[in-house]
Amino acid sequence: MTDQRIYNFNAGPAALPLPVLEEIQGEFLNFKNSGMSVTEISHRSSYFDAVIDEAIVRAKRLLNLGDDYHVLFIQGGASMQFGMIPMNFMGDGESADFINTGTWSTKAIKEMGIQGKTANVIASSEDKNFSYIPKEIRVNTDARFVHLTSNNTIKGTQFYEFPDTNGVPIIADMSSDIFSKPLPVEKFGMIYAGAQKNLGPSGCCMVILRKDFLETANEGLPSMLSYKTYANKNSMYNTPPCFGIYTIGLVLKWIEEEMGGLEKMEAYNIQKADILYDFIDGSEFYKTTAEKYSRSLMNVTFRLPDEELEKEFVLRATEHGLGGLKGHRSVGGCRASIYNAATMESMYALVEFMESFEKEKTS
Ligand SMILES: *Cc1c(COP(=O)(O)O)cnc(C)c1O
Repeated sequence: MTDQRIYNFNAGPAALPLPVLEEIQGEFLNFKNSGMSVTEISHRSSYFDAVIDEAIVRAKRLLNLGDDYHVLFIQGGASMQFGMIPMNFMGDGESADFINTGTWSTKAIKEMGIQGKTANVIASSEDKNFSYIPKEIRVNTDARFVHLTSNNTIKGTQFYEFPDTNGVPIIADMSSDIFSKPLPVEKFGMIYAGAQKNLGPSGCCMVILRKDFLETANEGLPSMLSYKTYANKNSMYNTPPCFGIYTIGLVLKWIEEEMGGLEKMEAYNIQKADILYDFIDGSEFYKTTAEKYSRSLMNVTFRLPDEELEKEFVLRATEHGLGGLKGHRSVGGCRASIYNAATMESMYALVEFMESFEKEKTS
């Protein structure tokens, strides 16, 4: 079976670690001798209590989060967070700062406007088609929070360092790079991530919330749109995305036990990305689209000399068992998403194919 699996460079839903998929398969029909699948057990059972608790404990241990943080699981994807953030955290007459680094940041800003809230765009890379991360970032001291997208899945850029905000909490959309490296968590009031890039299946968003920041959240919201509901009920006010939470727990276990934690995960991710970037930098045929000091370790965006070649490249790569290399429909070009689960082997396979394609087209 496994020899029929492709090298998967999809942006999301994306590749999961093979050992995790095998573990799921192995216990899918009879979870922990319950006589049921994990998709069949009650979320009010001790079986599921253990599942959600383990996912939370592992997330906290990996990120060195103390008891001052909640780890929540919310449905609706990262996109629902764009709307929940202003709803929960914006009061009358308040404003928040936003750093606009691409499609996802733009969507978060848009949701502020829909709710009549003031979003100050304090830095943007729109002038150069979002090909870089702005350097000079000055935060308004009275901002409710600063929102940023840590990794720009579509444009292929990533924050290497987070801005100094003078204590204003950062809210970060980390959908495409959460758990890819250690984090200075004390800077963040909230971190959120749709699971389907680096964490598990779609349908579940992990939300990490600092307790003192959550205490400042608005009251009187619909229950399912209030962070406090999730915090008060350990994400089980209603039926949670059980399978997603279970899989996330296994992915986090894999990071801890197989990969050796976030420092090692980061070193591995750098090594993988370097293989591809070094090859592209040495080629006249392929060109990355992001500026060098902002290039993402998770989504490598690149172009070929023309669109016809790009089309053929993606098609031929697919025939070679290399999937998901087409760029996002809004930007075109090519993109290799190389999240935590991408293997070194897949990087060598990709570069080897790219090399032979270039030779064929340039000789
Ligand atoms: C994919 C993605 C989203 C959207 O996620 P959904 O779960 O589909 O809503 C938001 N932000 C970033 C950075 C993403 O990569």
